[in-house]
Amino acid sequence: MMIFDIQRFSVQDGPGLRTTVFFKGCPLQCLWCSNPESQSALPQLLYFETRCTYCYQCVDVCPAGAIHKADDGRLILDRQQCTGCGTCVEECLAGARSISGKQMTVDEVCNIIEKDMSYYRNSGGGVTVSGGEATCQPESLVQLLVRCREMGVHTCLDTCGYADWDILREALKHVDLVLMDNKQMNTDIHKKLTGVGNERILENTARVASMGVPMVIRVPLIPGCNDSEENITQLGQFMKATGLLRVDLLPYHRFSTGKYQALGKEYKLAEIPNPDEDEVRRVANNLEALGLVVTIV
Ligand code: SF4
Ligand code: SF4
Repeated sequence: MMIFDIQRFSVQDGPGLRTTVFFKGCPLQCLWCSNPESQSALPQLLYFETRCTYCYQCVDVCPAGAIHKADDGRLILDRQQCTGCGTCVEECLAGARSISGKQMTVDEVCNIIEKDMSYYRNSGGGVTVSGGEATCQPESLVQLLVRCREMGVHTCLDTCGYADWDILREALKHVDLVLMDNKQMNTDIHKKLTGVGNERILENTARVASMGVPMVIRVPLIPGCNDSEENITQLGQFMKATGLLRVDLLPYHRFSTGKYQALGKEYKLAEIPNPDEDEVRRVANNLEALGLVVTIV
């Protein structure tokens, strides 16, 4: 499976202390994505220019000739030519380069998961499979979930919901808790923000709810994108209609700006301020007034 990160002792991806396994590759392109390196299914080179000492070793070792020295001395990466081989990463003593994305076997991932079994037991935690979107690698996802269950580890699937239903249904057989994203109730706006409409997501959400699998709706709260009264009210009504009670609000932040730069990607929401506490509380109050149980993460 292609993994871009494994975080141990995570406390924000489900109950207790958890190991979160981040699958690489996602069908959505959310403008605010806090893990922009998760979107491509392929390994990607990140170049952190502020750490670069301009020794130019990377230029010399790149087998693809993908790194060029500009007239002003700065480095230019031709991403079309870069194969993600990682040679320049090994050569860079300044730590200015890294590769996001690594092929791992289920055994390798489970070896990391196993290290923290006592923490899961003592905290009521477990493993969360996240991304990117883990259902984009369905066979690996199911194999990992099955192994976790065999180890007696609580399993949580953190999903954007934009998945083929047969794949999602198969994964759900091995999942104790679903964290289901909801980014915007209006499909046209959803498409502008994420690249896809929301019909499939809402349909899958309702289907999971009808199966009785425990589920928490997760809303990344992005000022001007999904925090309007209208959207929040529609979300609350949808949740009530589908029998869902629990919603997590994840206020927007700009911690990932440096990663966008390192990937050579434009960060289109760079000007959007973080929501202040009053704004987040207003949204939470609106949802609570509809009878929902709200957690601000
Ligand atoms: S090897 Fe590292 S420090 Fe040297 S020029 Fe390349 S990125 Fe910069
Ligand atoms: S990852 Fe490989 S191909 Fe890409 S820039 Fe570095 S050395 Fe060149």
